Amino acid sequence: MLSTMQDVPLLISRILTHGSTIHGTSQVTTWTGEDEPHRRSFAEIGARAAQLAHALKDDLGVTGDERVATLAWNNAEHVEAYFAIPSMGAVLHTLNLRLPPEQLAWIVNHAADRVIIANGSLLPLLAPLLPHLKPVEHVVVTGPGDRSLLDGAAVGHIHVHEYEDLIAGKPTSYDWPELDERQAAAMCYTSGTTGDPKGVVYSHRSVYLHSMQVNMAQSMGLTDEDTSLVVVPQFHVNAWGLPHATFMTGVNMLMPDRFLQPAPLAAMIESERPTHAAAVPTIWQGLLAELTANPRDVSCLGQVTIGGSACPPSLMEAFDKLGMRVCHAWGMTETSPLGTIARPPAGVAAGTEEEFAYRLTQGRFPAGVEGRLTGPGGERLPWDGESAGELEVRGPWIAGAYYNGPDGEPLRPADKFSEDGWLKTGDVGTISADGYLTLTDRAKDVIKSGGEWISSVELENALMSHPDVAEAAVVAVPDDKWGERPLATVVLKEGSTATFETLRAFLADEGKIAKWQLPERWTIVEAVPKTSVGKFDKKVLRRQYAEGELDVTSL
Ligand code: ADP
Repeated sequence: MLSTMQDVPLLISRILTHGSTIHGTSQVTTWTGEDEPHRRSFAEIGARAAQLAHALKDDLGVTGDERVATLAWNNAEHVEAYFAIPSMGAVLHTLNLRLPPEQLAWIVNHAADRVIIANGSLLPLLAPLLPHLKPVEHVVVTGPGDRSLLDGAAVGHIHVHEYEDLIAGKPTSYDWPELDERQAAAMCYTSGTTGDPKGVVYSHRSVYLHSMQVNMAQSMGLTDEDTSLVVVPQFHVNAWGLPHATFMTGVNMLMPDRFLQPAPLAAMIESERPTHAAAVPTIWQGLLAELTANPRDVSCLGQVTIGGSACPPSLMEAFDKLGMRVCHAWGMTETSPLGTIARPPAGVAAGTEEEFAYRLTQGRFPAGVEGRLTGPGGERLPWDGESAGELEVRGPWIAGAYYNGPDGEPLRPADKFSEDGWLKTGDVGTISADGYLTLTDRAKDVIKSGGEWISSVELENALMSHPDVAEAAVVAVPDDKWGERPLATVVLKEGSTATFETLRAFLADEGKIAKWQLPERWTIVEAVPKTSVGKFDKKVLRRQYAEGELDVTSL
């Protein structure tokens, strides 16, 4: 028997219409680096998104499911593109502006982007790439930046437009088409920490359902009284779903544009008083150092969502002391990204060690995500908090394939998808009986020493809890006797007197780290190399070690 319910497709245009009417007075504030930030209401964003859609269709001839890319920071115009492009039926492709230029060109060509909406400040990156971007016919430029970079030869056959001129005078409403909710809405290539970029294509339905999940009380649970500082880039898994989620609930957005350094971030927190913020740990480590050097009142941040890599306990502790409450979450480009979120269970008292331990886990699966652990022989492992295996997930906002291979068919590599269609995350960990996921490492980063596994993350967290250590990354390096052993790369704080011996003794102290896991190879670096989304780039460290570029001391 079929239900008697209406079959209303879950479309991004519905989120836009809702946000720009019911929450029309909510605001997107974009940092400009000048005295006053730029403010635009959700109602204005709705009107301008309609104008952009008209311009894309009538002036640039965008039809069907053509790809329209963005090369942009987090700002109001990027939010307009987020809504206009999928709502009209085209596919939003957010380009990661931190990727190496050749990879960026490869991705644009692979996705067959026909239009790129680019921030003026990013033209120095885009202009030299243009001759290599075969499918691109139009570049639309927003915001400040040197237009002369697009003069003449660099552009070739490509038409250049000013965003504001293009949308000026267009109707401020649009008769959004009634699309199939399973149709592609947006695409995002994985940042390639562990291999070539792969395209994940989100549907209207997956974005809609994911946004509802982001808004649930046990997820981010924000309301129209909140302001969210969206540091996580809009090109990194849709800024973790925040632009869509906030339009559902009227949460104000504070967008840092290109001002992502610790000092302007601290300044915008102090002056705009956001109640929530989201970013990867390295951003927060930088902010913490800034706040230690130049204290400011940041206690407005009642909730800081940290994900993308494991949140070091020392960071969580330090933020707690500053009155910023960390909420740890796990996800991937392939999971939209919300996969788990660490809200302690009912009955666990605030401020206790037990509560802290729960908050440090990667968290629980929401109702829309199922998780399971698979052992090395493909066996299912119990949720006992001890059996460690690869995490596999499935659900309506989890990828089931990647964007097309050479034959035009979706890609389902066997190391990424199980035979029964679950996503193999490449993350290794345990799940407790009450459903809390604890990741010990990425399968590719685990150090396999004499048949035993050493978690690189555990070593890093222990090192980063030393008061003299600013950052630490641990990678596996080949070892004649044990197969692999850990190499500790450490960034020391200014004025530190720590030595490798004292750091090693610190790790051994109170049995923090088992003796056989203690690194014998140590090196000091000025900064840990980072990936395009700000994670430790262990590929680079392993290569530097292999090529003898690191000055390594053996203890
Ligand atoms: P990339 O794979 O290129 O780094 P993603 O942003 O999709 O791009 O990264 C997803 C991966 O990041 C996860 O598979 C996991 O290894 C790591 N990750 C994300 N959140 C966490 C977390 N809270 N703790 C530990 N690792 C995390």
